[in-house]
Amino acid sequence: MSPPTSASRRFPFDCPICRVLTESRSFPLHFDNGLAWEKGGLWLLRCSHCHGFTYWQGEPSVHEGRVLSGHMIWPIVLKGPPPHQDMPEAVRLDYEEARKIEGTSPRAAAALLRLAIERLCAEFGATGRSINDCIADLRRRGTPDNVRKTLDLIRVVGNNAVHVGEFQSAEIADIIPDLFALMNWIVEEMISMPRRVNHLIERLPESSRNVIRMREEESPVAH
Ligand SMILES: [Zn+2]
Repeated sequence: MSPPTSASRRFPFDCPICRVLTESRSFPLHFDNGLAWEKGGLWLLRCSHCHGFTYWQGEPSVHEGRVLSGHMIWPIVLKGPPPHQDMPEAVRLDYEEARKIEGTSPRAAAALLRLAIERLCAEFGATGRSINDCIADLRRRGTPDNVRKTLDLIRVVGNNAVHVGEFQSAEIADIIPDLFALMNWIVEEMISMPRRVNHLIERLPESSRNVIRMREEESPVAH
């Protein structure tokens, strides 16, 4: 029994293999159940430029770069920006995992980013029984408002991602690219910039360093 020929659909698609926006054709995959050929719910999309295949769950449909139906399960496309070079290793692992699954499950990615900021708070020396307590502790430690607010934002989105009916997947998918960028901004603000400033201060004459150090010791902790 020869496999069935199926009508394929054609539409422009930004191929993740060759990075060329070109016409692609979709084909349903069939399997032989012993009596007939059946569709298995998986589809191939073939790029007319590189002839490479991407694999989809559900029939793919893309219009002006927006996926209307189906989702690509291979290759895995990393969507979020790469982690900041100074991101602590434990945080980086969760961040990278979130990038890998963002395309297939934005909710799971948001939950992982929440875990990542929990680890980040620990890196900043915050203590508490919950991430909420840790962020409150950062306030007592004088952490800048914008940083705490951003940590809270990522915490809240992550919480909503795992609670039924609070926040729809589409809404999370819209917001999560910004959360990746904000994670990197926090690392820049809290780790990289202070490190650079301290490095420059170390190059000053000792008398000047002492003036700066004394002023720091005099400064009251914010809030
Ligand atoms: Zn291609």
